[in-house]
Amino acid sequence: MDVGRLTRVFAACATLALGACAVDASGSQAAVALQGVVPTDYAYAVSWDPDERVLDGVGTIDVENRGPKPVRDVWLRLRPNNRDGLVRVTFVKFAKIVSRRAGGSMLKLRLDGELRAGERDAFLIEFRARVPRDQTSLGRSAGIDLFGDVLPVIAVTGSDQPRIGPEPSYGEGSLNPVAKWSVGVTVPRGLRAVLPGREARVSRSRKTTTYESEADVRDYAFAVGRYTSRSKRVNGVKLTVVGSAEKKRELGAALRRTVNAFSKLQQWYGGYKLPSLKVVIGDLPFGGSEYPGIVFSTVDNATISHEVAHQWFYGLVGNDQYKDPFLDESLTAFSEQRFHKSYRCNLARPINGRHGLATGMDYWEKHARAYEDTIYRGGACALTLLRHDLGASVFDRALRSYVAANANKIASTDDFLAAIRNAAPNYDLARWQRLVGL
Ligand SMILES: [Zn+2]
Repeated sequence: MDVGRLTRVFAACATLALGACAVDASGSQAAVALQGVVPTDYAYAVSWDPDERVLDGVGTIDVENRGPKPVRDVWLRLRPNNRDGLVRVTFVKFAKIVSRRAGGSMLKLRLDGELRAGERDAFLIEFRARVPRDQTSLGRSAGIDLFGDVLPVIAVTGSDQPRIGPEPSYGEGSLNPVAKWSVGVTVPRGLRAVLPGREARVSRSRKTTTYESEADVRDYAFAVGRYTSRSKRVNGVKLTVVGSAEKKRELGAALRRTVNAFSKLQQWYGGYKLPSLKVVIGDLPFGGSEYPGIVFSTVDNATISHEVAHQWFYGLVGNDQYKDPFLDESLTAFSEQRFHKSYRCNLARPINGRHGLATGMDYWEKHARAYEDTIYRGGACALTLLRHDLGASVFDRALRSYVAANANKIASTDDFLAAIRNAAPNYDLARWQRLVGL
């Protein structure tokens, strides 16, 4: 997410309650080991009714018990950050709902049979989502309907128990391991769907068109509308920008910015694993939302660079977004800064005030006004200082090895620090950590 503009959103919401304004680096380093039940395959078929603004879906979710003990229960996360009840599970097979928490956004399911260590099982859900016309990641922007955070995911256990909520009222709070997703999206004839990953098939009936894709990703978003697109292939990856008629004139600039950001990020960090990247151009008031292989973004260079950079810091290298926003948002803000000078830095004092970069979203719920200044601006400036101290080539090598060691895994802050230590063993990293509160 780009909260470069959150300040304005906060200002606009100043008189309201905040909740109402929610808009070892060598390659062998173990990332965060997941415990308990993890998803291995999601297979969803959804159908979009634009008149009723309802998305109906059915899905099977395959899970594996990675923990040492037998389990019966799994947690299903319906829509992180939102207790709005927009997504409801209407039917479950091979499991049953035994508890609802966090305003109904977390469902505890009891599997029909016990899942012993190392065993796999699957269950089926049907769900219905009401999709508002709001300018949000599950809503509509510039004539395109956006479907972010709508397909239910398994809440996994990282270093702690699964976090049941409440979710942060802004920013992100997910912890999603990479799983195999295969998704079919059926839309009325005349509309088209934009899907991440490998586009598998398009099939047509008299009244509908079904688009299918497959992707090994952490979560899965898509968009639907009448749109035009422009594409360019970079290092074998097809980059596509998409916009409705009202954005058509801006697609040339959007593609140039996407190509520039992607090419350089790939050169710096390496390792992008998907065959394509889609950038859906809209007018989201908070800039954009990132998902692996697809982002929603305004057309400006800062936001496009930011959302494309999330393909590395969130998409490729995952993290517990609730616990470690430094790992996705600070590293992304720093990458954005390399394309667009969004933030002013005082390298002698990169972080303002008493806050630090090691803080999680539980902290930022209570210090919302300092969140952007610390995690985004401060994070970008802290990393700029680190690059200045280490020298560009050592820093870039460290970041590249961090990406390689943690690709398609969940990284921790220790993994990041280990990569720096490994690349610059004589650098006084502890001093930098004290300075930036990490
Ligand atoms: Zn972001």
